[in-house]
Amino acid sequence: MAARRGFVAGNWKMHNTLAEARELMKGLREALPKELPVDVAVCPPFTLLYPMGREIDGTAIKLGAQNTHFEAKGAFTGELSPAMLKAAGCTYVIIGHSERRQHFGERGDVLRRKVTAALAAGLGVIYCVGETLGERDARMTMGVVGGQLNEALVKEMDASRVTVAYEPVWAIGTGRNATPEQAQEVHAFIRSRLALTFGPEAAGGMRIQYGGSVKPDNAAALMGCPDVDGALVGGASLVAGDFARIIEIAGTEARRHKGTQGEGTKGQRDEEADRR
Ligand code: PEP
Repeated sequence: MAARRGFVAGNWKMHNTLAEARELMKGLREALPKELPVDVAVCPPFTLLYPMGREIDGTAIKLGAQNTHFEAKGAFTGELSPAMLKAAGCTYVIIGHSERRQHFGERGDVLRRKVTAALAAGLGVIYCVGETLGERDARMTMGVVGGQLNEALVKEMDASRVTVAYEPVWAIGTGRNATPEQAQEVHAFIRSRLALTFGPEAAGGMRIQYGGSVKPDNAAALMGCPDVDGALVGGASLVAGDFARIIEIAGTEARRHKGTQGEGTKGQRDEEADRR
């Protein structure tokens, strides 16, 4: 199996003023070791990208945005291009979060264009997929997740810069998380689908994060699964101690269960180099 380096990202959503964000980052810097055991990113709201870029200076923490437009420039009031995010210090961008799908109608062609544009600008993509409770109850999970992968990811893309986040919608912000068995089942399915698109070798090197009410007390069980390579964390990423603990657990699980503390793939190393 290709060496996958663990990856934990914090999705701050629409939270934190500048003062609150500085306080959170101060807590995180104090709680984290200098050498991080896995790749770590924080994804603040747009207005905080630049100042948070200053806050992470001298640390290994990277910056991500929560959304992007697919055009490079133009008359798109209220939007930001991938190049703007890159210039603001971003290494990553989250695309296709279920809240974007649900509240802003994002799907299909739009998401594929966003992933394409973000990769072309040199950003790493965290592409989110996941089923609703109704879809799970109707045994549609694999069909829905497979469709979400197919609608946005195509074989011409640089797979090594794409992370997939499996986030069952019923587990996001609800305090209810998938069992490790449920998570592993879908993660293995996702990897098999990625293998069809990108080939088995590339798929074996791709990171698949779990997201949905990840907390320090459930992180070990989830990230102990063989195909769970880290976490996309919402609520718990707003508490420095909790986020730091999840990062620490991710490192332990990566070493203990998978021996995946490798250097990562070339694309993942390029992302790292971009930050320096
Ligand atoms: C998320 O926003 O991607 C998320 C997983 O949120 P939470 O951890 O709060 O469920």
